[in-house]
Amino acid sequence: VTDPDRRREVAVACRILADAGLGDSIYGHVAARVTGHPDQFWVKPPGLGLAETAAESLLRMSLGGDVLKGQAPPHREWPIHAAIFASRSDVHAVVHTHPKFGITLPLSGQRLLPVNQDGALFHDGVPEFTAFAHLVDTIEDGQMVAQSLGMSRALFLLNHGVVVVGEDVAAATVGALMLERACEIQLLAPSGRPAPLADAITVARQRLQGARRVFDHHARRLGLS
Ligand SMILES: [Zn+2]
Repeated sequence: VTDPDRRREVAVACRILADAGLGDSIYGHVAARVTGHPDQFWVKPPGLGLAETAAESLLRMSLGGDVLKGQAPPHREWPIHAAIFASRSDVHAVVHTHPKFGITLPLSGQRLLPVNQDGALFHDGVPEFTAFAHLVDTIEDGQMVAQSLGMSRALFLLNHGVVVVGEDVAAATVGALMLERACEIQLLAPSGRPAPLADAITVARQRLQGARRVFDHHARRLGLS
């Protein structure tokens, strides 16, 4: 992916997440590594909702927190992205949102189970970050979040929101949509028959292979392709 395309993808990802109802006024953000510069990333600027984000408004940042391009100071939670990019060379995009069902499921005391195709993507389990619920706005706080995430694809921030990572922008975005849908379906299911998919690993691989097409579908639907 060329860098202008990568930057554009981040803005499209914001719009797709907003359209799916994952926005929370001006909160939530998406970041992706700059193509050719793995120690830098593009990130949504503060003050705008996910639905208002355009490629031109994105900030280019270093992992140390310097704004290299863009007019605004960064989101106070930039350390979430920086710490994850620093600790996970396999991750090229990070989504952080405050989605209703992603917040509710851990509060229900349940663990997310791979009981549908969406949940299968998270068959390894989704850890919970329980240390605090305030803004992740220091490097130390970001490192704690990255440590909690470990090698997982997603993390529940208890009382706050979720983090979803991906090997590219499409995987992180579609992963965030799938996590929310998996949480909603599990919360809607009457308890009593948790029937995990026997072939969750295969389903997860198939859904990941389709992530780019799903991303492009949403972009077209929103008139952004
Ligand atoms: Zn947040």
